Amino acid sequence: MTKRELRIDPDQYRVHPHTRVRLGDRSTNSTDGFSGTKTDAPPVLAEMNARLADLQEMLYAEGRHKVLVVLQGMDTSGKDGTIKHVFRTINPAGVQVASFKAPNEVELAHDYLWRIHQHTPRNGHMVIFNRSHYEDVLVVRVHDLVPEEVWRRRYEHIRAFEQTLADEGTMIVKLFLHISKDEQKERLQARLDDPAKHWKFQAGDLDERAIWDEYIAAFEDALSETSTHDAPWYVVPADRKWYRNLVVSQLLIERLEGLDMHYPEPAADLGSIRLD
Ligand code: AMP
Ligand code: MG
Repeated sequence: MTKRELRIDPDQYRVHPHTRVRLGDRSTNSTDGFSGTKTDAPPVLAEMNARLADLQEMLYAEGRHKVLVVLQGMDTSGKDGTIKHVFRTINPAGVQVASFKAPNEVELAHDYLWRIHQHTPRNGHMVIFNRSHYEDVLVVRVHDLVPEEVWRRRYEHIRAFEQTLADEGTMIVKLFLHISKDEQKERLQARLDDPAKHWKFQAGDLDERAIWDEYIAAFEDALSETSTHDAPWYVVPADRKWYRNLVVSQLLIERLEGLDMHYPEPAADLGSIRLD
């Protein structure tokens, strides 16, 4: 059996600060970083799942860093699937998922970051945002839920908010799951055809699909305006779910390894302790 090679350089997907993102120039279906095919991916993903679980355990044990993963993308881009497959081996005690739906009455009566901040991670924990404060410059913008002057100034708020989190010890990784419009059509069709997927189909998804280009423009602005050194965006090619899982896993592994974590020193000289 040939050894399948993984040479994903997460940096190639990063949005560098002060650069203009053009999503049309970024691949949705590349599998460049892996020499194998879909059928070769599961054992590689399993190895990465195990590595991620080890790193998360150290994160928890050390209790020094906080980790925030932000997932955004068009409908059907695979936010739920990414959570399911990339984080499946992580100890549930140390990871929380926060899913942000349309705000309720109480949330709408506050500033838009109020409901977000309550879910940011504590020391030693990892939190995954399934949608996020970015909806307040995406769906809110394309549907004119607030005037332009209101959503436009939010980029600055968001940069400052995320910088606050980063300065106070949060490692932030923001992932845009990049799918093509054709791929979305297939995934929506699958939701119509497969009874097991009916529950995922929402009629509103078709209205959103009709304004695909407006969403792309809103994403391009959001990614360009808010990818910073401490809170970078990554544009993940996501048409192939198996490749998306490898990229997201590799990216998280490298960023977590970059934290240079260690298990804490034992509190006492454990060698001298005798149990009855
Ligand atoms: P889903 O992720 O498919 O469960 O859908 C969640 C829905 O909530 C999406 O249609 C989002 O656009 C919507 N949503 C999330 N945050 C906001 C927000 N701040 N304002 C309006 N709609 C939102
Ligand atoms: Mg949906």
